[in-house]
Amino acid sequence: MRRVKVEVIKKVINCPKCGTPSKKHSIGKRTIKDLGYIQEVRYSKHYCPECKVFITAPVDGTNKNSRYSNKVRDKCYELVKDGYTYEKISNAMVSVYEMRIPSSTIHNWITDMDFELATTELGTEK
Ligand SMILES: [Zn+2]
Repeated sequence: MRRVKVEVIKKVINCPKCGTPSKKHSIGKRTIKDLGYIQEVRYSKHYCPECKVFITAPVDGTNKNSRYSNKVRDKCYELVKDGYTYEKISNAMVSVYEMRIPSSTIHNWITDMDFELATTELGTEK
């Protein structure tokens, strides 16, 4: 699969909790799976001296700590709304995008995005 390098390196970012400008501390790496390609992301880690916590530079188009881009998540959401089961979506992602996503992960996304949809019969049986 195609790999794309992405850099999100900032010198200073403001702490999301207290707003204190926080200097770059180190560099982190993460891999984010997107539709049809993989993003290899290098990002800066910062340290807030007020809160005494590490902050990571936010990467566009993905949630913190997620291994998948929001586009992948949104695609699954559309398919659930169309009435596909989590299992079928999981299989379709493998055959169309060569991307293995456990159906439990898809279920968790839908629960976060649309609790009502996640608790209907749609995603579980059809
Ligand atoms: Zn802070």
